[in-house]
Amino acid sequence: MRNISDLPRVTLGLYPTPFYRLESVSARYGRDVYIKRDDLCGTALGGNKVRKLEFLLAQAQADGCDTVFTTGGAQSNHAALTAACAARLGMKAVLLLKRRGVTERKGNLVLDELFGAQVELIDTDSYDEIDAEMRRRAAELEQAGHKCCLIPVGGSVPLGCVGYVNGVREFTVQAMAAGVRIGHIVSAAGSGGTTAGLLLGARLFLPGAKVTGVAVCDDPFERIVPELVSGAAELLQCGETGRPGDFEMVENIGAGYAVPNPEDTPYIQSLAREEGILLDPVYTGKAYAAMCRLLERGEYFSGEDAVVFVHTGGAAALFAMDLG
Ligand SMILES: *Cc1c(COP(=O)(O)O)cnc(C)c1O
Repeated sequence: MRNISDLPRVTLGLYPTPFYRLESVSARYGRDVYIKRDDLCGTALGGNKVRKLEFLLAQAQADGCDTVFTTGGAQSNHAALTAACAARLGMKAVLLLKRRGVTERKGNLVLDELFGAQVELIDTDSYDEIDAEMRRRAAELEQAGHKCCLIPVGGSVPLGCVGYVNGVREFTVQAMAAGVRIGHIVSAAGSGGTTAGLLLGARLFLPGAKVTGVAVCDDPFERIVPELVSGAAELLQCGETGRPGDFEMVENIGAGYAVPNPEDTPYIQSLAREEGILLDPVYTGKAYAAMCRLLERGEYFSGEDAVVFVHTGGAAALFAMDLG
């Protein structure tokens, strides 16, 4: 296996992020529930995309890029974090965002501007169309002497997933130091890269731990996640392949992607009030509420080992939309 540190990487977050037991939640469900605070990674409002961008933007730098294109919904956390990280590295960020959802200057659109990104709202619901538009614009800029890097939605390409392989390694060390055995890992799934990275990381560093992705949109994760696992495993030359069926997907889409689910609000409120932790209504609130409902049911999380919730960020949405 290749060492992860053989891949180009730039430091963009303050790692390790905290990992600790959620006392109130553990007491309520009679189960050890831990949280990995990737919302506290030290860049902008934090979030999972920073781990991916450490690898993606290092590659862009190595390729001599001065401009980074990416895409997402109008309130994309990934786009805002790409803007933040690109700015720090002296690269220009161009964000082609779907004109879908909250397009007032709120939440992440405020941050995009603060980080100096060029933002354009595109009237389409198809990422294929946006990808074609990114390629067209990148070609134009390259004609004018620039060098561009295109990051697809969510940074969910194999190199981005490596960020979460590394993330698992990080909390494996933290859990060992705390004498905690990890049985389950839960996080939100939007474009699938985080789930894929967690899954490959678990195979490598926590064999026996089960990964559950909570889908917040209806993409075909059963296909996407194993493909990403295979791609990331190839980069790491670790001899693993994506196998459908060795991870769990549960859904909490509610009325749709980025539409707050009123049934999740009590869970978002309780974590805020008991632990001072912010969850957003698009990703982490849906994932956390789904995890709590599975804990309520009892039998889903087999064994006695700890359940780890990976907090993937997203707080900016709280300033852009009402809870359901
Ligand atoms: C993007 C995002 C996710 C989903 O991660 P994927 O790797 O796209 O599946 C989860 N939570 C937050 C806050 C995000 O911004």
